[in-house]
This record gives sequence, structure tokens and C-alpha cells, in this order.
Amino acid sequence: MAPRTKIVATIGPASQSSEVLESLMLAGMDVARIGLAHGTVEEHVDRIARIRAAAAATGRTVGILADLPGPKVRAGAFADGGVFLLEGERLALAPGGEGARSDERRIEIDVPTILSDLHPGDPVILGDGGVRLLVDEVHESAVWVTVESGGRLQGRPGVTLPAGRNGPRAPTAHDLELLQAMVDVDIDMVAVSFVTSASDITAVRDAAGPDGPMLVAKIETAEAVADLDNIIAEADAVMVARGDLGVRLAAEDVPHHQKRIIKRSVAYGRPVITATQMLESMTTSPSPTRAEVSDVANAVFDGTSAVMLSGETAIGHDPVNVVRTMARITERAEVEADWVSWGRDLGRLQTASSAGVPVPVRVTAAISAAAWRAVQDVDASAIICATRSGATARAIARFRPHVPIFAVSPLERTARQLSLSWGVTPLASAEYTSTDEIVWYAVESAVQQGLVKSGDVVAVLAGSPEDPEPVTDSLRLVRVR
Ligand code: PEP
Repeated sequence: MAPRTKIVATIGPASQSSEVLESLMLAGMDVARIGLAHGTVEEHVDRIARIRAAAAATGRTVGILADLPGPKVRAGAFADGGVFLLEGERLALAPGGEGARSDERRIEIDVPTILSDLHPGDPVILGDGGVRLLVDEVHESAVWVTVESGGRLQGRPGVTLPAGRNGPRAPTAHDLELLQAMVDVDIDMVAVSFVTSASDITAVRDAAGPDGPMLVAKIETAEAVADLDNIIAEADAVMVARGDLGVRLAAEDVPHHQKRIIKRSVAYGRPVITATQMLESMTTSPSPTRAEVSDVANAVFDGTSAVMLSGETAIGHDPVNVVRTMARITERAEVEADWVSWGRDLGRLQTASSAGVPVPVRVTAAISAAAWRAVQDVDASAIICATRSGATARAIARFRPHVPIFAVSPLERTARQLSLSWGVTPLASAEYTSTDEIVWYAVESAVQQGLVKSGDVVAVLAGSPEDPEPVTDSLRLVRVR
């Protein structure tokens, strides 16, 4: 059986050549992520074209996830080599603009309006969380701070304010420009950074238009953790963005948020990605630490749909080895995972099936729950679902069935989007006009590809294409001839 947990790998200078991209796909990369924070739109579009060409060359269905930078506040640049701040030192935070500069006595901030929102006693975090400042005095020209925990600062470190302050909100004007460029190239998925409420996702969806990409809500702020269910309900998928989450919240809380975010996302039928530092040491080393191996395996046990690689594949010394290692760890963990109890504990209906949820969503949730049950009752060997939008495949994937899920879709973008869904193997199909035709075609294409064989029983989920509002409303248990 194909691996069930999907692998998202970030593409950067170390992995953007056609040769490496093809090797990454053959090694198990399901989704290629491109960070839009660095580089030009032309460079992003060029990378996307190369990823698509590599997928065609290898015959793999690979989704592309474009990650919007979001509203990041940054300090002005430190001179080469950076500075080292010591605990107890006092310095000033001051407004900076284009070309802002910083040194050990004065740090300029590129969004000056945030300074007036600080109060004595507030913590301000610089970089990845190592350097923490405490506000002493707020003046019009500068904010005086004392270093609470010191460390090295170099380049242009990010500046993190206490939760709830009026920093810039997602999506920024720049995010929306990048979004438009991604919509123009028919991107599969877009990740929204620094989401603080469901309305941030709605704003991106409105800007993307009616046939926009899947939207992935990155959970990386205290506000997002507090508004989790509303954000998950509004988004199409979720990312546990542990890097920034660990800066904004206590690092020791992150594993517990990870478990809750995964659980709630799966309850809503949303694919969920566990991200950041999963195999960090492999950026420079040929093998992972024992702790990293355990972290990846534990994310599988938590029920994550996908695990993500960032710097490891973007700038690491051997991206293909990293993806191969990740695939080995997830496959091994999947042998131990107890999927049957998972489906049973999940309950019969989708969380979203309570009052107010549209009838078609509830019908799909109910029919996929019936399919999960039937697969066990008849000892079926696979689930085949015919899906236009991908919703049916995502609805059944949330039960983590122990048999393969083949998602047959006439829409290539749907197939690519399903590359993020746990346990789903997307298959291309022709357009169909009746339920009988869909069921026949779906089973036949699985047989022809050697995925099921004569004598097998398969559960087929299909809709009624003749219906003006097609919904998955049929479950058939088919004995393959
Ligand atoms: C994170 O913070 O964990 C994350 C995935 O975001 P980014 O890598 O875009 O900073």
C-alpha cells in the first residue's frame, strides 16, 4: 500500500533544479511548497513551471503550495556578523523606514506604528525567540527596553509583539498582490501566514475569486489558537506552524497545541500539516537525531495528514536523502498506528454536520461514515471515490480507513490538491454523466492500474452528476469481476 502520511517539501536553492525535483518526487514528496517571502514573482512562477514539468516527467501527482509571507514586522539590518545582546543591557527601539539599521544600542523597527502600542512590562521578542526584551519606558521618539534573555542578532530579525496588539493584519496588500500572481498560474493551494481570525481566511478567499485555490490556515499566533474552531471551519486545510507558534507561545505548550490542532482539523475533515524543524539537523547532517525521528513518528500517531520539511530541503545539503528518510520514518510509524480505533473514536458524523451546516455537506459526511463502517463489515480491499471538488475523498480520509482510498477525479487540480490528504491516491478520469457510469469507470480504472483485482470487494462512493447541485449520495459495494 502507498504511504498514507503525505510529505510536503519546501523548494529552494538546493532543490529547484529539474533533476533534484524529479528525485524528490520519486523519493516520496507529495506536495512542493514555495515560500513567497523571498524572491520575485518571476522566480516563483519559474519554480512552479519546473515543478509541474518534473511531475509530468515522473508521472507523479504533486500539489504545489504557495506560502504567503503575511505581516512580518522586522528590525533594521545589523552590520555583518551581527551583535550579541547581554542580559540586563538597556537599549532603544526606534522608528525606522526604508533602509532601517540596527546596532547594540538602538534597534530600528520597520513598522513604526507598533511602538506606540507598547506598554511598560510588555515583552518584545526578536528573531526565533532567543532574544527577549522587556519594555521599561515608552516615549514618542523611542521605546526603552531591558534585555531579559540575551543572544546573537544578525540580518533583519523578526519582531514579535504581545498577542492582541494592533500590528499589521493578514492578508497584507503585498500578500494580495502575490495571491493574484498565484491565481493567474492556477496554483493548487495557498498558505495564509499569521492568521488571527477566520475573517483573515475569508478576506483571502474573497480576493482569490470563486474558483480560487485551497486555503491553508497557518496556526502560529496566540489569537489563532484561541479562535481555532472558527478558523478551521473557514479554511480548507490547516498547518501547525510550530516555528512561529513556539516564539509566540511557550515552547513547552507547542506539542499540546499540535495534538489539539490536529484533532480538531481531522474532526472537521480538513487536511492538517505538521511543520518545522522535523528533521532540522539533516540540513547539514546525513542522518537525523533520535529525537527528530520520534517527533515525526509521534506526528503520525497524532493523526497528522502530512509532515513538512522547510530548510532541510530548501537549503539543505542533501534534500533527496531527507525526503527518503522522512518516508522511511512515516511508513514505519504507520505500521504501529491503530487506525480502526481512530475511526471509531471519531464518531459517525463530521463536526461540521451540526445545525446550520448545508445539507449536501451533511449527506457527504453521513455517506462516508457508512462507507467506513461497510469496509469493515465486508472486509473490502479499497475505497474508491469519484470526486469533483475533492470533498468526498477528504470526508472519508478523516476516518483514516485501513484500506487504500483511490480518488478518481476528472479535474487535474482536484487530483493535485488531494496530494495533501491522508491516505488518498488521486487518479485522473474522464468526465461522466451518470452515477452508473462513474461507478463502472472508477472500478475499471482501479483494476487497469492493478490497484484492485478480480474477487475483491470495493466500496465506491459516487454522486449524481445529473443533479444540478451534485453531491456524493451513493455507496455501492462492488464485487470486482
Ligand atoms: C512556521 O513558523 O513554523 C512556519 C511554517 O512558517 P514559516 O516557515 O513560513 O515561517
